[in-house]
Amino acid sequence: MTTVPAARPHATHEVLNQVPPLAGYDVADDPALLEAAGREGAGWDAGRLHELGLLAGAADTQEHARLANEHPPVLRTHDARGHRIDEVEFHPSWHVLLGTAVGHGLHAAPWADARPGAHVARAAAFYVWSQAEAGHGCPVSMTYAVVPALRHAPDLAQQFEPLLTAAAYDPGLRPPAGKAGLLAGMAMTEKQGGSDVRAGTTRAEPAGPGAGGPHLITGHKWFCSAPMSDLFLVLAQAPDGLTCFLLPRVLPDGSRNAMRLQRLKDKLGNRSNASAEVEFDGALAWPVGAAGRGVPTIIEMVSATRLDCVLGSAAGMRRGVVAAAYYTAHRQAFGKDLIAWPLMGSVLADLSLESEAATTLAIRLAGAAGRAGRGDAAEAALLRAALPAAKHWVCKRAPLHAAEALECLGGNGYVEESGMPRLYRDSPLNSIWEGSGNVTALDLLRALRRQPDTADALAAELALAAGADRRLDAAARRLETSLAGLAGAAGPDAEYAARRLAGQITLALQAALLVRHAPAAVADAFCASRLGGGEGAAPGGPGVPFGTLPDGTAVGEILDRARLVPR
Ligand SMILES: Cc1cc2nc3c(=O)[nH]c(=O)nc-3n(C[C@H](O)[C@H](O)[C@H](O)COP(=O)(O)OP(=O)(O)OC[C@H]3O[C@@H](n4cnc5c(N)ncnc54)[C@H](O)[C@@H]3O)c2cc1C
Repeated sequence: MTTVPAARPHATHEVLNQVPPLAGYDVADDPALLEAAGREGAGWDAGRLHELGLLAGAADTQEHARLANEHPPVLRTHDARGHRIDEVEFHPSWHVLLGTAVGHGLHAAPWADARPGAHVARAAAFYVWSQAEAGHGCPVSMTYAVVPALRHAPDLAQQFEPLLTAAAYDPGLRPPAGKAGLLAGMAMTEKQGGSDVRAGTTRAEPAGPGAGGPHLITGHKWFCSAPMSDLFLVLAQAPDGLTCFLLPRVLPDGSRNAMRLQRLKDKLGNRSNASAEVEFDGALAWPVGAAGRGVPTIIEMVSATRLDCVLGSAAGMRRGVVAAAYYTAHRQAFGKDLIAWPLMGSVLADLSLESEAATTLAIRLAGAAGRAGRGDAAEAALLRAALPAAKHWVCKRAPLHAAEALECLGGNGYVEESGMPRLYRDSPLNSIWEGSGNVTALDLLRALRRQPDTADALAAELALAAGADRRLDAAARRLETSLAGLAGAAGPDAEYAARRLAGQITLALQAALLVRHAPAAVADAFCASRLGGGEGAAPGGPGVPFGTLPDGTAVGEILDRARLVPR
């Protein structure tokens, strides 16, 4: 018999060069965010921002995010005895995430807070917390956005605003007036179209005498996210035209309103949030705003959610570049940390520039929205162009950014456990909802054509950085020429300009903010790579892949400045 050799240790089980989890860090340790929030009047909230940042970066929050996405919501149309209940069951982790957001007032608290900068503080906190998990940001944003629209019905606002702004998460279907806090959603999009909401077929008939009282709503909506919310703004064709209504899930007498959830969408992005198809079968709803003025009324909600789309995309970019930098700082190839290889450094610096520019502009817009809400006409004019432009451009840059950030993790970035696939899958969403790419670009054109003070407000904002960078000065002149050309444009050309202008305006605004406020290395590299024209500049500007920064870029300074690798 031959001798059996002694068992050898399993050398294959030794794990080398894998990166420890990115957890236990302060998501709010983000210089671009902190500086922008301070400039826009929310420096007083820095303490809370860091508190929320630590919570967002905590391992157990990440675990809640994973669980909420791996256990998607389930629709329960009927109870065991066959009664319709139309409820959606969420994983407990969803409630933890949403409860934290509401507990910190991210949904609607600034509407009840007279302090200057309250909306900026909320925007910064939303940006920080949505890096923990994006899906539950949907009901948070919609609740924030419903308040200005609801104010078109002062009686309803008086009744519900205190509950919408209360920092109390009170899930479950009960009469709204008896709850500690409320969440709100919206139902505009129908099967035959979401961009052209005037073509909606849902009908509203007065439930009694007089046009100002409750109506019975009959029809369907093809997308209605966060269907367990307490209140919804709904568009419906009333006798006097398309009108906005407030529709509660539960009626004051405790009975369920006739809002039937048909099915939940099987979506590309996050799996944590539910988006339903719904039918209203004579559901009771109350008018908000004047009869026939449904679009101008609900547009107030749309513009607040558009701001959150920009904030959400900027947050996704920051999450992506931090994950990429952390990973490459802890993984070696060819004898060095990946981040130390020049080309990886250039990719990360380019991702960081995009992220810083998006964050800086998003918080500037939040400041403008807060001031416009307090009657500042110049800021309102700036927003008319800057918001659709940024909604278009920043949200469109997000998927490219997420794809490149993911690739920094190599094959691990393609695996769900890294969290990067979730970031990537979610990244196109902000561009689609609340006005898809073409629609926001066309909104921008309309604003520029209809209200001349819009272009003046843009020029005034850019003039604040005039003379500081020759590439920015040239970009501002090109933009002026493009805007002047709008008046004479006809036929298809009049619309072809829309996306170009959205890009031109956003890049010029971002560059102007960076030139004024960011370190020289950041501003210089942004202007050189995004505005073109310099020696060794990337040939195609921002259309080319990331990692094509011009020769001589101060990569190390850009990376250090962004504090990408958590301390
Ligand atoms: C995850 C998710 C959640 C959502 N949640 C909600 C919700 O809670 N409530 C709600 O009401 N809706 C919701 N939506 C719907 C969303 O707002 C719509 O999908 C969006 O407004 C586009 O409408 P549509 O899908 O009907 O596309 P369409 O209107 O059919 O548009 C299709 C494409 O054509 C483009 N287009 C349209 N008009 C023009 C034009 N004149 N010129 C050039 N291009 C044009 C659009 O930009 C788009 O790219 C949600 C969507 C998603 C994906």
